[in-house]
Amino acid sequence: MIYLDVNATAKNEVDDIIINAITDAMKEYWMNPSSLYAAYVKEKIDKCRLNIARFIGAKPDEIYFTSGSSESNSWAIKGLDDYNSELDSRIITTPIEHKSILKAVENPNLTSFVYCCDVDEYGVVDLDSLEDLLNDGKNQSILVSVCMANNEIGTTQHISMISDLVHKYGGILHVDATQALGHIPIDVEELGIDIMSCSGHKISPVLRGIGFLYKRNGIKISPLIHGTQENGLRGGTENSYGIIGLSKAIDYCDVGYETIEEMIEKRDYFINKLESKFGCKLNGHNEYRLPNNVNVTFSQNITGEALLYTLEMSDIFISTGSACNSKSIEPSHVLKAIGLTNDEAMRTVRFSLPSNITYEQIDKVILEIENAIKLITMGGSDIDV
Ligand code: PMP
Repeated sequence: MIYLDVNATAKNEVDDIIINAITDAMKEYWMNPSSLYAAYVKEKIDKCRLNIARFIGAKPDEIYFTSGSSESNSWAIKGLDDYNSELDSRIITTPIEHKSILKAVENPNLTSFVYCCDVDEYGVVDLDSLEDLLNDGKNQSILVSVCMANNEIGTTQHISMISDLVHKYGGILHVDATQALGHIPIDVEELGIDIMSCSGHKISPVLRGIGFLYKRNGIKISPLIHGTQENGLRGGTENSYGIIGLSKAIDYCDVGYETIEEMIEKRDYFINKLESKFGCKLNGHNEYRLPNNVNVTFSQNITGEALLYTLEMSDIFISTGSACNSKSIEPSHVLKAIGLTNDEAMRTVRFSLPSNITYEQIDKVILEIENAIKLITMGGSDIDV
């Protein structure tokens, strides 16, 4: 199997180590962390909290465990809107956010006015457009929500520049770092992030249903799930197994310069082959891009879906869009926002590479794509593949 869909859910060389950590935790740390006799479970969770906090340059009491990024994103939007409901408030986001943000801001019960800032043809946030929106009016509360690394086209944003702008106008910056955690370095202090959403399963598939919200101390937010846990801000008996697994996975994340450069070299090797052999057009930015993401539009008369199913027969797994959108018959909102036509969007696929992919595997994928295109267009195409 060649699995090229790690942006949907990761496949990690250390999955077995994480599974072992979780199964050990199930035997050792099964007591309810809130029980008075189970202080050792709470201590273990707090050790993990510290480990995860350190990895992103945060303090341990700034980490709130959640079920993943859909919850963290919904909480950031609803929680801030609710806390500031007495104020004149605004939310500014972009048209290429994950659906958990876009659906949250569509909620008619929000008291904030919602605005969308422009992105360019590569999906990079247009800072002038953002500044125009920030500068417009005298709102007492402004929340800006931006995705650090887009889940479809892989474009990464200039978070510290965005943060400087947002703070210049007294706003709060929420960053959806779901695709970034464990893949590119994140330091919330250096980047000036106020609130951030993260999810475990983008590091390892074992970590489904565990994530966290980073919230800078001092930022006020209402709870989404009521209860006493997580400092009274996120109710629910802690998922101690998931937390322990996430902390273990973090120990193996390597976002060092050399590892990232090596990944970029493999990614670019693949992109160059796709461009030269099939005339593919890269979507997203070629430099400001996740090291593992390749999103291309084919010039041949094939749909991404046909390519996906044909490659599946050769045990190669890819995506037509983001996993959450891939069942949708609508063309991706991200591709449309960066200017692709419906037809181009339908001819687009996303490959997201595991860190241990080899050049031989990439060559094999190229060969199988060539065969797949021949098969799909059999008899009906004059395109030389
Ligand atoms: N944001 C982004 C950018 C994502 O890629 C995803 C997952 N596809 C989410 C949010 C939602 O994460 P989860 O699956 O943990 O709810």
